[in-house]
Amino acid sequence: MIRRLLFSSAAILCLLAGCADLGVRIPGMTPEQSDMITKSVSAAAKAARPVSESEEYYVGRAVAARLIGTYPLLKSRELTDYVNAVGQTVALYSDMPNTYGGYHFAILDSDEVNAFACPGGIIFITRGMLNAVQNEDELAAVLAHEVAHVNHRDGISAITKARWTEAVTIIGTEAAKAYGPRELAQLVSIFEGSIDDVFKTLVVNGYGRSQEHAADRTALDFLARAGYDPRALHNFVNRIMEEGKETGGLLKTHPATSARVEQIREALPEAAIDPTLVQRRSKRFSAAVRR
Ligand SMILES: [Zn+2]
Repeated sequence: MIRRLLFSSAAILCLLAGCADLGVRIPGMTPEQSDMITKSVSAAAKAARPVSESEEYYVGRAVAARLIGTYPLLKSRELTDYVNAVGQTVALYSDMPNTYGGYHFAILDSDEVNAFACPGGIIFITRGMLNAVQNEDELAAVLAHEVAHVNHRDGISAITKARWTEAVTIIGTEAAKAYGPRELAQLVSIFEGSIDDVFKTLVVNGYGRSQEHAADRTALDFLARAGYDPRALHNFVNRIMEEGKETGGLLKTHPATSARVEQIREALPEAAIDPTLVQRRSKRFSAAVRR
């Protein structure tokens, strides 16, 4: 079992800033962004405080870039706008309605039934997932689960402790901005490795069962607060479990077991659902998704 770290990326980004000063450019970052990181995180790395939202954003953006390199983006403005409308509503009622870079929802052009939450609030669902949900409340439930992962900062916790220890060792032995080519190469490698850690957790390994259970429970609250029917999460996971056809994608990283379904059922909050609104949402869903 890989040991996981809860607060590691601050110093890695600090190291990146050092790299930028020396002319080493990290893909996806402008010199201005690197400068900003330099100013904001150098003290933080020494203090070993929890990773800030801006630092988490940069890690999340790199992870999102890698996901888009793996699954192409679905280029439908209308559908993407619709998924954003639902996702932003859920995010607004979450425990963390604002993040440094805001929430962004996008669709990946894949048949796989899956969803991914990058650190900081970039959330993807696949075309396969859009086809698997049966109404807007189920779509909201899937997005609420992913927003919960962002709120819990699960993505950033996937960076391995060993990698962080290596970074600390380099920081400890080298004066700031005095890295030689060997140390620079090591630091770039550590950053890329950290992105690997998060990416592999999102795409291949999934989170632990307790993180998934926590995300489900939190999602139920977000749904109830936003006026969606929390039972939609139960219905969706239950149906996926009963169909049980998929061997990869969502079932791999978000196992739909009977235990999970039962835990969701037990945690269902009381929620007064307005049937008129459910009907309106169904129409909106059909118009946007089932054209
Ligand atoms: Zn999950």
